[in-house]
Amino acid sequence: MLKRKKIVVIDFGSQYSQIIARRIREMEVYCEMVREFDFNNLEDVIGIIFSGGPSSVYLENAPTIDKKVFELGIPILGICYGLQLITHLNEGKVEAAQEREFGRAVLQILEKENPLLVDVPMESNIWMSHNDHITEMAKGFRIIAKTDSSIAAIANNNNVYGLQFHPEVSHSEFGKKMIENFIFNICKAEKNFVITNFIEEKIKQIRETVGDKKVMLGLSGGVDSSVAAVLINKAIGDQLTCVFVDTGLLRYDEANRVYNYYKSNFNLNIVKVDAGDRFLSKLKGVDEPEAKRKIIGKEFVEVFNEEASKLKGGKDVEFLAQGTIYPDVIESQSVEGVSHTIKSHHNVGGLPEEMTFKLLEPLRELFKDEVRQVGKEMGMPESIVNRHPFPGPGLGIRVIGEVTKEKVKILQEADEIFIDELINDDLYHTVSQAFVTLLPVKTVGVMGDVRTYEYVAAIRSVDTIDFMTATWSKLPYEFLEKVSNKIVNKVSGINRVVYDISSKPASTIEWE
Ligand code: GLN
Repeated sequence: MLKRKKIVVIDFGSQYSQIIARRIREMEVYCEMVREFDFNNLEDVIGIIFSGGPSSVYLENAPTIDKKVFELGIPILGICYGLQLITHLNEGKVEAAQEREFGRAVLQILEKENPLLVDVPMESNIWMSHNDHITEMAKGFRIIAKTDSSIAAIANNNNVYGLQFHPEVSHSEFGKKMIENFIFNICKAEKNFVITNFIEEKIKQIRETVGDKKVMLGLSGGVDSSVAAVLINKAIGDQLTCVFVDTGLLRYDEANRVYNYYKSNFNLNIVKVDAGDRFLSKLKGVDEPEAKRKIIGKEFVEVFNEEASKLKGGKDVEFLAQGTIYPDVIESQSVEGVSHTIKSHHNVGGLPEEMTFKLLEPLRELFKDEVRQVGKEMGMPESIVNRHPFPGPGLGIRVIGEVTKEKVKILQEADEIFIDELINDDLYHTVSQAFVTLLPVKTVGVMGDVRTYEYVAAIRSVDTIDFMTATWSKLPYEFLEKVSNKIVNKVSGINRVVYDISSKPASTIEWE
């Protein structure tokens, strides 16, 4: 790990925990989020935040923390559940309230000079979301702010603070200010988490870790693995070998483009595996989406394993690099704060036991937008760092029903036209994900007085923030018309184009 002072957010399961970490990083202070606090690694910790959470502190299996956290002399800020936990662990009392308090409330400050409340007006709007409340103050604590109906903020003389509301959400008007006060006035944090520092430090760290050993990385062409590859390459040059599997189910000319791009711009050492025929023969006769996904996933692992053992055998490869990012890390931690099961992201879908690699995951501290910034900073173009996501099974699930070479080719051509036009008209970056799906339906058309009987292409474009819900993009009619004409005229095999106007839910983004 880098030696950098940090704020640690202990996640008690709140839906806003990640937002707390984001807010702090936006303030250029390094921040980590954990489900279990590590009392053995305190050296760089300058502040601790207890997040909110769905549980109630007085319940038997409620997540908690060892009381000795209050004896470390490190400033603590508890948010909602966090405030309740501070109270519970310090001889105060928390009970279910008669009425739950949810939504906007007005914060009234009682202790104007408190360092947590500097530059916060005497009255401001905040966001509440709780069922429980303090019924007895914790020992040594006092109320520093309130609302009409509840205790809103507490503090003791030992730099421990609690907020009943959520300062991290934008509805809390001066919430950001209070977080800033905590990390700068109270924890004395310094602004040093900037992307250029990150890149330099990582490069140094990768060199130290890897030494003269060899590293292998599965390059998919997606943002995370591409940025990881370029960063590691900057650090150790051709000690890194990237394996790029062409499944035959990639976008139009994608395999060549990825290969040539990284070869000529970053001089990456890439082994390209042409496995298209293998994938297609395994998919023959299969039309059920889940079955297709499984086959593609399994085949991918097999191809990757074969390459890994070839490389490992011949070249003394000791590390497997992955583009794991921070949300992946958080996801793989256990939800019970007590059990400490950090499932390491095991090798790209299960390499054989005997083939042990050490993992190298240089982006594991970063959120997606930070990964993009790193890419940009290293000179990677917009077209790569801001690409739309592409599903693992690729066009295998965008050719609806059985996948054949002919259908993949038709789809690739149509998709290329759509994406190209989006880029030409400056629409690509205004939508979240756009693609074409080839339907297993043939319909009648007429071209040059001749009857045609060909496939239907469905174009889809969605707008979304988190891909959990999405709405269809309201692309201009003239644009859709142009794309439709172009596809029908240029792609032989398609004589009809439809635009998908379904939202998620009830539909999904991909069709299969
Ligand atoms: N579950 C606790 C309550 O209902 C804490 C809620 C929270 O952290 N948002 O009061």
